[in-house]
Parts: sequence; C-alpha cells; structure tokens
Amino acid sequence: MTDRLETKFIHSAGVDPQTGAVNVPIYQSSTFHQNSIDEFGPFDYSRSGNPTRQALEETIAKLENGTRGFAFSSGMAAISSAFMLLSAGDHVIVSEDVYGGTYRFITEVLTKFGVDHSFVNMTDLDKLAKAIQPNTKVVYLETPSNPVMNITDIETAAKLAKANGCLTFVDNTFMTPLYQNPLDLGADLVLHSATKFLSGHSDITAGLAVTKDAELGDRLGFIQNSFGSVLGAQDSYSLIQGIKTLGARLKQSSESAQKIAEFLHGHPEVEEVFYPGFSFHPGNPIHQRQASGDGAVLSFRLPDKNAARIFKDALRIPVFAVSLGAVETILSYPATMSHAAMPKEEREKRGITDGLFRFSVGLEHDEDLIDDLKQALEKVRVKSQLSIAN
Ligand SMILES: *Cc1c(COP(=O)(O)O)cnc(C)c1O
Repeated sequence: MTDRLETKFIHSAGVDPQTGAVNVPIYQSSTFHQNSIDEFGPFDYSRSGNPTRQALEETIAKLENGTRGFAFSSGMAAISSAFMLLSAGDHVIVSEDVYGGTYRFITEVLTKFGVDHSFVNMTDLDKLAKAIQPNTKVVYLETPSNPVMNITDIETAAKLAKANGCLTFVDNTFMTPLYQNPLDLGADLVLHSATKFLSGHSDITAGLAVTKDAELGDRLGFIQNSFGSVLGAQDSYSLIQGIKTLGARLKQSSESAQKIAEFLHGHPEVEEVFYPGFSFHPGNPIHQRQASGDGAVLSFRLPDKNAARIFKDALRIPVFAVSLGAVETILSYPATMSHAAMPKEEREKRGITDGLFRFSVGLEHDEDLIDDLKQALEKVRVKSQLSIAN
C-alpha cells in the first residue's frame, strides 16, 4: 500500500530511532567521533553528511519518487550545483522565461566555464526540437513559469530530450510535489527553491534536488560535497517542519487563489489575469494533464505604473516583497523586483509591463483579501479618473 502525499508529508522523515522523538533531532555538529583508524561510522563531517539533513534529503526523495535527494543552502545553490554536472563545451537549452537568478547564473557564470546556452519558448516544443545541437546535454524547464504562467509539456519535452541524449531538469518550485511530479513524467532531475512553499513561512532560504537515476544521484552527491553549499542542521529541521504542513497550506492557498483570480478577472480596472487554473489559459489542457492542482500564485496587469503605485499604496493586508509561497500573502512587482536587471524592452517582450503584479496567496481569509483588493482597485479607479479630469 502506498500512502498519499499528504500522509507522506507528515511521516516521511520518521521518528528518531534512538529516542522515539517525533521530531527529527537537530544534530548541531560539524564532525563525528570515529571508533577506529580504519573503520568510520555513517557520518564523518557535516558537509559530506549530517543526520538532520539526511532525514530531509530522504524525505524529498520519497515525495518526488526519486532515488536520491539533496539539500542546499538556497534554491540557487541547488540549481547551480545541478549545472555543475556539465563540462566545458556542453550546451544547455533553457525556458526563455526562466527564474531571474537562474538566467543570471546561466548567462554570467556558466559561460565563463565554457558552457553555452539557448533560450527557447517552451510552450512550442517544435522550437525546442530545432534548438537541440550535437553538444546539447540538458533541457531545463520551469512550468508554470514566472510571472506570466506559461505551461510546458514536461512529458513531451523529456521524451524529445531523451531521444537526443539530453537530461531534463525541471524547476518544480511553483507546483511542489503535492501537485506535480516531474520524475514520473520522464524528467531526470527535479529542483526546488524550498525557500517558497516547502518551508512556507518566509523564514529560511533552502534548495532541494532529487534525481531519478542512482548514477546521476552519485554524481550530484559528489558535486554537493565538493562545492559544499549544503543546508545547515537548523534549517534542515525547519524545512522538515514546513513540509509537514505543505498539504494543508497549499490546498487552502490554491483554493483562495482560484477565487481571487476569478474576482480579478471580472474587475474593470484589471486588464489581464494569468492563472493556470483558468479554462481559457492557453496552457490549461497540458497543465491539467500533468498537474493535480493550479497553485497559489497568479499575476495580473493594471494599465500602467501610476495605477500600480496607487494600488500598492492602498493595499492593506499583503506584504510587498520579493518571494512567494508563504503563509502571508505576498505582492511583488516584477518590473523593479525579480526582473529589474532585464532591459525594459526584453521585459515587455515577456509580458512584464509596468502594470504587472505577482500575487502569492497566503492563508488569510479569502474574503478579507478580496475586500482589500476591491478597495485598492476602487482607489485606482477614482484617482485615475481624477488625473483624466485634470
Ligand atoms: C525563488 C526561486 C528560485 C531561487 O531560489 P532561492 O531559494 O531564492 O535561491 C528558483 N526558482 C524559482 C521558480 C524561484 O521562485
């Protein structure tokens, strides 16, 4: 009998075998005493392995149906370490609307080590097929993408990659293992910024990686130990605690997000709403096939920067910040936050205009959030009419 994910979230880390403690102990130790000069115990040094981190790594491996899990000090540490599987002369193909930090790593760090890249619009997999070169080694996807929620068909992309001798990496931060399991769809490696939904309380930065194949797992384990950007014991403990409540949190937030997306869609001050749960979202049929939920993040467009400023100043409940996936609702402004480094023209090509907001729905009462949005949009309406009258 296999348990459902909600049950696995609670029990995957297990109880402490020594004491029966229901929470994994925090093994705050960098080194471990050895009994003999030629026989070492299971742990020797915490960069190579720590019992608290190991409980977390085994947990995420189970949740993603993989063979090996790895915990890193941030999502970017996990992603960068995964790219270190490559060698000079290799080429990678990446979703064109990839997370900003991943974009920066690929364009400004990987290039220094002789790893080349192409950015491709992965909503059209013919474009992916055309971009594959003899030295392409990795196809890197993010679905839904950020912030305009483009959907990529993971299974078809992974098949295409495999047929051409490439590995498929998927950043699964937005869906989490609750709603999407890329390894089951043919991907080789799944990545998470566990800073977001998995920890869920805006309290730690953490990254996770899971491999399907044991040999790839050994290679990533070697890199994790060599590069050393591991997650500490305290943060590993926090993340295990966060994962326990992921099922309840994400379901509640996603339910509210659907209601909020519908409210915004019907509002005259809002030009456009991006949410994969809308039946008219172009990626919806593929998303429904490969994911079991629509998530708690949506984006919407107001007419311009002036409207955006009035709206932000009027909003009472959400925190205005980068990041997402927390108990508190987080409003972000991609133009000056996540995509500030991108030239305006490139930004606008990707739909990131000066009126675009990202909204990560937390656990507040959905009607309080809708009331707050309503009053802020009313201020936008009144003030923009005033400015027209002037
Ligand atoms: C935040 C984020 C990252 C980076 O993770 P950090 O924990 O901030 O290093 C990567 N991918 C996505 C989709 C993210 O939202």
